[in-house]
Amino acid sequence: MRSVVLKSGMVTFAAMVASVAVAAVAMGLQGQVLEGNALLLSFLCPLFVAWPVSAYNYWQKRNLTHLHDQLAQAHDDLAAAHRSLADAHARLAMRASRDAMTGLLNRESFFQAVEGAHRDGEACHLLIIDADHFKAINDTHGHTVGDAALVAIATAISRAAGAHLVAGRIGGEEFAVCIPAGHARSDVAVAEAIRAEVAGLRFLAADATPIALSVSIGGATFAPRLAVSSVFQLADKRLYAAKSRGRNSIVTGASVASSVAA
Ligand code: GH3
Ligand code: MG
Ligand code: MG
Repeated sequence: MRSVVLKSGMVTFAAMVASVAVAAVAMGLQGQVLEGNALLLSFLCPLFVAWPVSAYNYWQKRNLTHLHDQLAQAHDDLAAAHRSLADAHARLAMRASRDAMTGLLNRESFFQAVEGAHRDGEACHLLIIDADHFKAINDTHGHTVGDAALVAIATAISRAAGAHLVAGRIGGEEFAVCIPAGHARSDVAVAEAIRAEVAGLRFLAADATPIALSVSIGGATFAPRLAVSSVFQLADKRLYAAKSRGRNSIVTGASVASSVAA
């Protein structure tokens, strides 16, 4: 407010000086002297015209600057809200696609990923991994220990598969991994790494009793004209073949070799 009064006062003073100078020159040219009412008018006119007009202008300018600042602040607030909404959306999408207990992809997301790759014509090897004799672990040590064992198995699968492979929990004690054709490691190598990683876990019950964990793995390869369900059925069939070989075993199309722990 003070700056509006000060600035419009300065403009009015300049207008008064200019008005007096113009009037003095004009009257001088007519051989007259600027005095009396003429002098008074040349002071008063700018006072009553220039002051309200410039005060109004400076007042409007001040309001506009204020509005501009508010708008910039609102824009910043909106950008921050937009960022946190995007974060929340990403967190929600992440939670919706993950299995809450193990952090691996849930069944639906794993199938989506595999079906998407299949639609795009990307060949991939599927491994279905099933925890061995898991009912016995629950029955002997309780469900809480069983849950912890599932988390340990899921972590071992992730570790052995590596960050670049799609891994999911597709059932209670059943997991799956997809290995793109042309991957640095073969399906058999990944399956063997997973089998060995789980078998090597040192998992203890609440009373420190060691609990042996192992998985059996069945594998099958996607081919362009092969339905996704057929590949899962084939991998499932091979999983049961691995179970019947004594568990802690691998059966894939490429290799029927198995590694049964002693
Ligand atoms: P196999 O070697 O033939 O696979 O034997 P298994 O006992 O693992 O298989 P079965 O299908 O008989 O039993 C699966 C068990 O897995 C039974 C079920 O209670 C347990 N299970 C499934 N989901 C969970 C879970 O989220 N937590 C716990 N603790 N147990 C689970
Ligand atoms: Mg099982
Ligand atoms: Mg099972």
